[in-house]
Amino acid sequence: MTLNNSGREDQEDPSRRALSSTLSFIDTHCHIEMEEFDLDREEVVVRSRAAGIESLITIGADIEGTLKGVDLAERHDGIYCSVGIHPHDAKDFTEGTYRLLRDLTGKAKVVAIGETGLDYHYDHSPRDTQKKVFEQHLALAGETGLPVVIHSREADSDTLQIVRTSGITNGVFHCFSGDREMAEQVMAMGFYISLAGPVTFRKATGLHEIARLVPDDYLLIETDAPYLTPEPFRGKRNEPAYLVHTAARIAELRDISLQDIARITTLNAKRLFAIGTLPDAGEIAYQIRDSLYLNITNRCTNRCSFCVKFHSDYVKGHRLRLSHEPSEEELKREIGDPARYEEIVFCGYGEPLHRLDTVKSVAQWVKSRHGRVRINTNGHANLIHRRNIVPELKGIVDSISVSLDAQDKDTYNRICSPAYPDAFDAVIAFIRDVREAVPEVQVTVVNTPGVDIAKCRKIAETLGVKFRVRELDVVG
Ligand code: SF4
Ligand SMILES: [Zn+2]
Repeated sequence: MTLNNSGREDQEDPSRRALSSTLSFIDTHCHIEMEEFDLDREEVVVRSRAAGIESLITIGADIEGTLKGVDLAERHDGIYCSVGIHPHDAKDFTEGTYRLLRDLTGKAKVVAIGETGLDYHYDHSPRDTQKKVFEQHLALAGETGLPVVIHSREADSDTLQIVRTSGITNGVFHCFSGDREMAEQVMAMGFYISLAGPVTFRKATGLHEIARLVPDDYLLIETDAPYLTPEPFRGKRNEPAYLVHTAARIAELRDISLQDIARITTLNAKRLFAIGTLPDAGEIAYQIRDSLYLNITNRCTNRCSFCVKFHSDYVKGHRLRLSHEPSEEELKREIGDPARYEEIVFCGYGEPLHRLDTVKSVAQWVKSRHGRVRINTNGHANLIHRRNIVPELKGIVDSISVSLDAQDKDTYNRICSPAYPDAFDAVIAFIRDVREAVPEVQVTVVNTPGVDIAKCRKIAETLGVKFRVRELDVVG
């Protein structure tokens, strides 16, 4: 895998994270229309802005709250709302309620249906009624195309069954409290998983596991304010400004930076609720820790089963699907002064050595300006260019990371589906050769079923190069 940022080593150092107001978050689930905010609602909104909450979605839970939410959203930039009746109040739902909710979906700031679902913990409404009302919300989501915000408490199997039967695949399980199996089923249905304040609680080990395992593409964050206040404010009224504490804890659990969590979850919220704008072009260069990554091509001679580009245009919230391959001039412009960075890393949503001439020329330029050069490659360069290109890297590349990805040819062919039948042998030969030309050589494998990590490590040892296992960062 020539992608650069699915390995822990490449992440920003979480210890450096700061609760910075320059970050941008979306609180995907709060109830600022509720009476708990009657005395200071405007200040709460101002505080949320100061804390970097660029948008928030105030969630309808009963008719009165839904109407108040719509009104609030209409009066404020950056506030959106959903329309729905909480399962607690399902007993009050009538045909008239359905018509009212449907009418409200015509308003510009209404971005979702809900919250709806099942709550068997409190059973404030009879379970059969909850189920029927839930089905009606799902029908409204189907009718309007809006995503659905689902509440499920101690009712996971009924909730899953009803969603599955409805055929709805667009929405979020809010304040997720299920286990790993539930999370997997939720994501398999196409739904996002939203984490709230309880993930900050020391004893919430089950939630900590969920926070680690949900892939970037499925993760949302919320406050559910005024409820579920995160640490260190537990016990007080919750408000959207506290979202950053939940985000920081999730970043810590995932061993990534707060910036990453902000970028990832904001992108997901924009995608799910169709709010704000999404980047329309791929990023050519982006920084991780102190290194600058250059995304120079989307072409690749592998088709790895785990490759994120077959599922998403984004990695860690960076849009990497290019509209064009950047020219040398564009790359130099993006780099600016290479000495500002620890390393300039040639990578891509593909194989960078497809563009050997560009890599050589820009690498030379970086070296002449006292920068350090690394290449992340699949090791196919000699096959692509039908000659041994390794000597051409001498003196201009300081470090190279080659994807080994398997312990033998059959496994490699199965996992990576290379364009060349003998690619595995070529990768091994490339690694052997490149040691002579590049001072620092590392091979990597992605921890994926069928890969024998111990055997791969042995190969690296035999070749006399560093070895690194990367954890899968993607679903698929
Ligand atoms: S398909 Fe190409 S870009 Fe994707 S992981 Fe495999 S080698 Fe990397
Ligand atoms: Zn709620």
